[in-house]
Amino acid sequence: MEPRDLSDHSPYVPGRGVEEVARELGIDRSSLIKLSSNENPHGPSPAAVETIREHASNVNVYPKSSHADLTERIAELWDVSPTQVWVSPGADGSIDYFSRAALEPGDRVLVPDPGFAYYEMSARYHHAAVETYELSPADGFEQTAETVLDAYDGERVVYLTSPHNPSGSVVPLDTVEAIADGTDEETLVVVDEAYGEFSPVDSAIGLLDGRDDVAVLRTFSKAYGLAGLRIGYGVVPEAWGGAYARINTPFAANELACRAALAAIDDEEHVDETVETAAWARDHIETALDAPTFDSAGNFVLARVGDGAAVAAAAQERGVIIRDCTSFGLPNCVRISTGTREETREAVTRLNEVLATLDRGVEA
Ligand code: PMP
Repeated sequence: MEPRDLSDHSPYVPGRGVEEVARELGIDRSSLIKLSSNENPHGPSPAAVETIREHASNVNVYPKSSHADLTERIAELWDVSPTQVWVSPGADGSIDYFSRAALEPGDRVLVPDPGFAYYEMSARYHHAAVETYELSPADGFEQTAETVLDAYDGERVVYLTSPHNPSGSVVPLDTVEAIADGTDEETLVVVDEAYGEFSPVDSAIGLLDGRDDVAVLRTFSKAYGLAGLRIGYGVVPEAWGGAYARINTPFAANELACRAALAAIDDEEHVDETVETAAWARDHIETALDAPTFDSAGNFVLARVGDGAAVAAAAQERGVIIRDCTSFGLPNCVRISTGTREETREAVTRLNEVLATLDRGVEA
């Protein structure tokens, strides 16, 4: 017996890990600068680490009150009701929850191309088909209402990403509203704000007050530095609240993740420092890298370097791990996550050495 036909399902391609690369190059991991997965270079909030230690001996018990406490705290943060908050294992988990709650077999979803791969993967697992709207490097990967609505043809879920991965472009709230207004009543517009803390644009959660057709994704993986714990959430319209209990994997968000997220939310200093460093590093990459870059509101910068795979491979030889964007359909680009100031300066210096030695086939 074999699995069902999964030939339509593409595996997720993550950024390369430090251990993996250090082993491959036979070098110490501490000499590597990892800027491939948009992680927090300051690590987790110290308050979250302390809480994890404190609660480590309770992991024999299913997470119940920690999950309820976190849901309430997030609801308070955004001034929504707790039933509107769908805590999940990473924002990825909420993408699955939206698929479960919204999609019937044969439904279609509309996703950006290039874009975050998991929208499409999750839709396919849930027996839906996938359509795309094309974002163009020529206009900075702007997600305009026109671009999305021209491609829209009654899909059940439309994904917007603000800031967009891998380009860092943002979707202003009036654009989200125009898209939600321009789609059918039975279409849910999902605004993925995994990188929202880094962006000056207000959260689309504010739109949920008056509408039942917009949902928002948020995560503790990025600005809060808890990627390894897998904790995120969706915020849904009031009318969707009751669905959570019917589609949620039991106890999917684990005890330590819920406790750590609770501590991290209140560690504003850590988030502020993270956001400040990302803004500095973005600016440094955009000005000091010898390659054209796209304006980014995330904790990463997309750069046009010619042969992205060759540049990423040569950078890795010099101890800098960045993301070759071939899997995003952008083979001439790399995505560079923002590191600490020291890491970012050093990475840009080494990347410029790489760019100077490669025949890149593009004008810098
Ligand atoms: N959305 C976007 C745009 C992302 O880039 C990511 C992570 N790379 C996620 C969602 C999922 O984040 P997580 O599951 O770690 O919360």
